[in-house]
Amino acid sequence: MKLCTICGREALREGSLCRYHQEALDNIHSSFESWRKANGLSWEEYIEVLCEIDETGQWVREVAEQIKSENDPSKET
Ligand SMILES: [Zn+2]
Repeated sequence: MKLCTICGREALREGSLCRYHQEALDNIHSSFESWRKANGLSWEEYIEVLCEIDETGQWVREVAEQIKSENDPSKET
């Protein structure tokens, strides 16, 4: 059994996230299109915004923070 890389719940067979975090990830991807069109944000900027605004739900925030930590090149230095 695989476990969600964020919360340790049982992960979906086709991914590395549980259904809650997978759903949050799907939401992140689907709202990115409209954010990109409206604000011209890059993926990294969008993830940054999700981590910072209060409107972000708990699941989405946890996924966004994980994406950020995986992407963040400044952590290398
Ligand atoms: Zn999870």
